[in-house]
Formats: sequence, C-alpha cells, structure tokens
Amino acid sequence: MPRFVYLNGQYVDHSNAFIHAEDRGFLFGDAVYEVIACIHGHLADEVGHLDRLKRSLNELKMEMPVERETLRFLMRELLRKNKQKNAAIYIQISRGSAKRDFKFPDVDTPQTLLMISSDFDYDGNVGVVKGIRVKTVPDIRWKRRDIKTVLLLPQSMAKQSAVDDGLDDVFMLDKDGFITEASASNAWIVNKEGTLITRPVTHDILKGITRTAIEKLCRDENIKIEERAFKPEEAYEAIEAFTTSATALVTPVVEINGHKIADGKRGKITQKIYEEYRAYVDGLRGKQVSWESGL
Ligand code: PMP
Repeated sequence: MPRFVYLNGQYVDHSNAFIHAEDRGFLFGDAVYEVIACIHGHLADEVGHLDRLKRSLNELKMEMPVERETLRFLMRELLRKNKQKNAAIYIQISRGSAKRDFKFPDVDTPQTLLMISSDFDYDGNVGVVKGIRVKTVPDIRWKRRDIKTVLLLPQSMAKQSAVDDGLDDVFMLDKDGFITEASASNAWIVNKEGTLITRPVTHDILKGITRTAIEKLCRDENIKIEERAFKPEEAYEAIEAFTTSATALVTPVVEINGHKIADGKRGKITQKIYEEYRAYVDGLRGKQVSWESGL
C-alpha cells in the first residue's frame, strides 16, 4: 500500500518526500513541530495542539503557512489517503529554504510544511501497562523549552544514553537538581496522600497538551494536583510516578536510578488517569470530535 506524506502542497509517496538542502529547519533547527495522536479515528486534543503550534510559530516570529481550517483538512486527508485510524501525525513547519545566513530570510520566503502520519498501535502499547525504567541526566537544553522546536539533539542523546544502559528513558535535571521532564514527556509523581505533583509551566519545560487535559480530568475527578518542582529523592519515595505525552499517553515510571517506585508496577491512580484520558479521547466524556465526522 503506498504511504503518503504531505509536503508543501502535495501528497507525495513516502520514499519521494524530499526537503531542500538549504531548508532552515535542516541547517539551523529553525522549525517547530507538533505530534497529534489519532486514536480509533479521534484526533486527541487537536485544538490544544494547533493552539500550541501557533504559539511556537509566534515565539519564533513565523506565521502559519496555511489557514488553520486548511491544516485541519490536510491532516484528515492524509489520514484518509493512508487509511489510518490509529496514527501519530507529525507536523513540521520551517522558515523555508534560503541562502545560508544567520539572519532570517525575507518574510515572503515560502515556509516548508511537512506532515507525516505513522501507524501507532495505542491499544497494543505495552509500556502503558508495564511501565518504563528511567535514569536522571543533566538537562543541557536551551532556555526556551516552552517552544516546541526541532532542536532535539539533547533529548536524543539523553534517550540514547538510557537505551545504552538498558533503560527506557530519562528524567532531566535542572542545575539545582530538580526534575524538569522526560526526553519527550512531562513528569509526574503521586505522594502518600494521593496528590499528584508536577512541575509548573515556565520556560523550563514544554507545556504538554496531554498534561493540560489531565489537569482538567483530575479537577473533574477530585484528584488533587500540586504544581511544584520535585527532586529524584522525593520521587523515590512516591507511591506512583508517570509521564504524559500525546503518543505515550499516561505511562507508569516503575524505576528511577535503580530505585523501584512502590512495588514496581503500574499504580491504581496512574491506571485510572490513563483510563479516564482514553475515555476522554474516545469522546465518552463528550469533549472530542471524530475527524471522520467532519471539521
Ligand atoms: N515535554 C517534552 C520535552 C516533549 O517533547 C513532549 C512531547 N511533545 C511533552 C513534554 C508532552 O507534550 P504533549 O503532551 O503535548 O505531547
């Protein structure tokens, strides 16, 4: 079956989707991106992801290359062409290609808009049941982690170092030893009182769209959340720990730096939040719209 990628106005075969050699995303990391989960045909938190995309562009003084409604249509068309109901949609927008120069090119330089939809088996994801093992590493990223840019080398290196140690992921630490986030997800712990603790949103972390949805679900379910930074030592004593992201959803963290969290299994609160989030995405809480039912 041919697999299509959307690139600059066309749906092209995956093996023929090429970016220009002087694309600023490639040369300078001058590009932003989003990842949206399509689960059982529902686009999870599409509004939040598109709002964040606009914000990231804005912070870098870039425009949306197409109208928002056009982008929504193009995404749906890509899913339809690829016959996908369970996929991760990757959207990348760069400042376009221009002669290599640090200053920005003319504002009328056409931007690059790329969308890739990859199959993703949300129901078969063993990580959300078994959990992941992480280690801590220094957070060596730049100081605007709230912008979702493609400057991902620090996270890539951190993740590889976890894999080299036979682990699944990392928790990154700021200069004072507090956990910022995981390589591509927000970090949470649950204390003995059953209160969730997660780092407040500043320029130090990415404001996860899944995190925001879960905050709302927790308010509805009367689960308390404390927004504050925490250290690994506090996490070792937690009764549960988990991460949240668009594709890994709500993933238990069962070990940190060799310390087992509680009994090393997915905890009840983590499971409940996962199930509530899945129900929310499936529209069972009346808040999601199926992409198949139109815009
Ligand atoms: N933090 C980082 C560094 C990430 O890359 C991601 C994934 N995009 C997240 C948090 C989680 O964000 P979201 O829930 O919007 O996927």
